[in-house]
Amino acid sequence: MQKEKKGKVWLAGAGPGDAGLLTLKTARLIEQADVIVYDALVSAEILSMIPETTEGIYVGKRAGNHPVPQEEINRILMREAKKGKSVLRLKGGDPFVFGRGGEELELLIKEGIAFEIVPGVTSAAAVPAYAGIPVTHRDYASSFHVITGHARMGGEVDLDFHSLVGLNGTLVFLMALSSMEFILNGLTEAGMDPDMPAAVLENGTCAGQRSVTATVSTLKEMSEREGICPPAVIIVGKVCALSSQMHWAEDRVLGGRQFLVTRPRQSGSALGACLRDLGAQVIEAPTIRTEPVCPEKRLRQALEMFGTHTDQEWLVFTSPAGVEIFFDQLMEMGTDLRGLFVRDADVRIASIGSGTASALKKHGLLPDLIPREYSAAALGEALSGEAKKGSHITVMRAEKGAPELLFPLISAGLDVEDIPLYRTVYETHPFLEEKVRDMLWQGKIDAVTFTSASTVLGFTKAWEDVDYTKIQAVCIGEQTAEKAAEYGMQICVSEQASTESMVKKIVELYGRDTLNLNYS
Ligand code: SAH
Repeated sequence: MQKEKKGKVWLAGAGPGDAGLLTLKTARLIEQADVIVYDALVSAEILSMIPETTEGIYVGKRAGNHPVPQEEINRILMREAKKGKSVLRLKGGDPFVFGRGGEELELLIKEGIAFEIVPGVTSAAAVPAYAGIPVTHRDYASSFHVITGHARMGGEVDLDFHSLVGLNGTLVFLMALSSMEFILNGLTEAGMDPDMPAAVLENGTCAGQRSVTATVSTLKEMSEREGICPPAVIIVGKVCALSSQMHWAEDRVLGGRQFLVTRPRQSGSALGACLRDLGAQVIEAPTIRTEPVCPEKRLRQALEMFGTHTDQEWLVFTSPAGVEIFFDQLMEMGTDLRGLFVRDADVRIASIGSGTASALKKHGLLPDLIPREYSAAALGEALSGEAKKGSHITVMRAEKGAPELLFPLISAGLDVEDIPLYRTVYETHPFLEEKVRDMLWQGKIDAVTFTSASTVLGFTKAWEDVDYTKIQAVCIGEQTAEKAAEYGMQICVSEQASTESMVKKIVELYGRDTLNLNYS
């Protein structure tokens, strides 16, 4: 987004819910906008992509309240742009398909405010596609028509049913759930075959998507029986019958599943990406972030003295964040890896688990020691067995790190130096807080993943008013699991401390057809 001093509005479509259906342009705008004005149709998965520092203005309905009036939204867009901001107006689906996009532009045009339109994937075609319904098909329908079922000013829907029936194409009704009976009756009275296939598709492209396929005469009753709720699309036409053979979205290994990933952003995306590839919807809400604690002086001293203490020197890392800060500091000191090896000492590296080991590998170091179990205590035990008597051990980790790591080292008479490199800061989620809390209460999130005890703590700080006993927690190790158990969560633990192992556990627990999967 080219920042323009004068301020500008981007009127963009966020698609029907699945974050994978965002356009590249909208995804980039989400990252770069100063202000994002959004409403209820924008999914939690997409909201979780908004940077914490971005200003968000919610203009959708709040429980029990009316939505912000259109004129008010128009004024907000104008006001923010006039402050010189880059304003992203994010709307469900496509902004010009029943999105009132046109109305939102009128004031901007009048005020001479610059704008761009970014089309989005409309629910009118994408929601049927995710239910295995092609809106056109050469054998069944050569046109499709998108129609609003919304009645203006509380009156009846104004539709010319004879013309609609005469079109002989697929009819897609948006905002039509409450007028379903009126529409279906109108179509049959205008001569449509009562056995014409019809479907209602709820929450399409999202984890909670549901569909009911029936006929024009039976859809209303079946939809009620299933308790179909908005947002939903009603689709009428022969193509609806194809869903029985073309359904696919729910058949994916994690199709229909939704997970909340609480990992810090730097390391979270691999887990999220794997789960998405398997068909899940993933809300990425990092609950912690690491912040360097200005360790320059101590770390610098330690590095200067490194190799002078004894003939064996250990560097101990307990997180990828620690590894990154360590290397940043090396670079700032104007040295690189070779700086560690200038003296005669035998330099050894210990890593708490495979994630930290991967971070080390990226910098050209292979750890000599990784304990079997991912925990501070296990690392301390393993290292006290492995280190030569009297070795000097430099531990570089979080402020107030677990003392269990140090006890075995000290008892073994090793010369331990514990250097705090960073502190853990809890993240808040202004965009997600309310939506995710509702989803947790409604059981719409299958599981929350935790990769450290501090992510559990961060989660409980970000979402306080939640019944934790209803939460299924997938934890990376025993320590993490213990913390989750303290809050009464239902816990399960991955076999190993790695993203692959977490994914494997999730597939075991929540996947379908796992027998056909080949996981290493
Ligand atoms: N601009 C949007 C439509 C806005 S009108 C678009 O292009 O998709 C709102 C209506 O869209 C809802 O009442 C519903 O009929 C439909 N809709 C939007 N998202 C949907 C979804 N994920 N699943 C089912 N229907 C959806």
